[in-house]
Amino acid sequence: MTVHEIDDLPKADFTVIGDPIAHSKSPAMHAAAYRALGLDLSYVAVRVSAERVGEALDRMRERGVRGVNVTVPHKEAAFAWAAQTDDFSQRVRAVNTLRLADRAGRNTDRDGFLFALDEIGLHGGRVLFLGAGGSARAALAALDETNRFTLAVWNRTPERAHRLVDDLRIRADVIATPDPADCDLIVNATSASLSGISLPIDWNRAKPTAWALDLAYGSEPTRFQRDAEAAGLRSSDGRPMLVGQGATSFEWWLGISPPRHVMLEAVA
Ligand code: NAP
Repeated sequence: MTVHEIDDLPKADFTVIGDPIAHSKSPAMHAAAYRALGLDLSYVAVRVSAERVGEALDRMRERGVRGVNVTVPHKEAAFAWAAQTDDFSQRVRAVNTLRLADRAGRNTDRDGFLFALDEIGLHGGRVLFLGAGGSARAALAALDETNRFTLAVWNRTPERAHRLVDDLRIRADVIATPDPADCDLIVNATSASLSGISLPIDWNRAKPTAWALDLAYGSEPTRFQRDAEAAGLRSSDGRPMLVGQGATSFEWWLGISPPRHVMLEAVA
């Protein structure tokens, strides 16, 4: 995939910004949906450093870019740039989707996470949630809003988990040891998988019917997925969430529901 720099911005209808951005599957995913629907639109990846987010968004707006997806680590900066946001974005104080003409921002990670749950067919139960970073905020707020899950949150740095739960006013226990016993779903929202590190979980205590859902994804199953599967659990990676958030962004920008199966194939 070609990665553009902000000083070398090509003409484009939509972009994704982040740093790093070379790994992003969003351009291929959106391009596949445009092709399937016969739309003559372009979507490119642009590397933007943290100190240039506002400048980059202003420039893209001047150049006629219609919408921007925002990934790590710029979602909070994008929230600050947006002049109008919805209740959910204000709750998590982060946006991953911008409509530039009216500086509107949305957080479609909620829909992304709920789509991932739909894909595995889980609609309630007890959740062990690992992590308290940016993606954890959106995913936990989404889970909490459904009123169908009981939540226990573990984070390597416990103070951060306590802060997140207080800040978002989520009904969740912050736990000192990530015990999967009795859980129907174990969500990995830490970035441990990106370094191939195993989390300190005794998988033998998990129910064999439980699902292990990693928000990370790569060319192979993640370490978290492999650890869970070795104990007999079923697992999924972060690609359905990527597709779910991308599909909601697409629909918000264009008013057309994109073919999710085509987007899933494009990131497979
Ligand atoms: P983040 O804000 O940087 O947070 C990182 C989290 O990982 C923190 O809770 C951190 O704990 C924890 N962590 C890092 N290394 C760890 C280790 N070795 N052991 C245990 N915990 C560790 O990151 P993020 O934006 O939330 O992203 C987290 C993951 O979600 C990444 O893998 C990312 O790729 C994925 N993601 C996927 C999607 C998607 O669409 N599929 C969207 C967003 C993010 P401390 O607080 O102790 O540092």
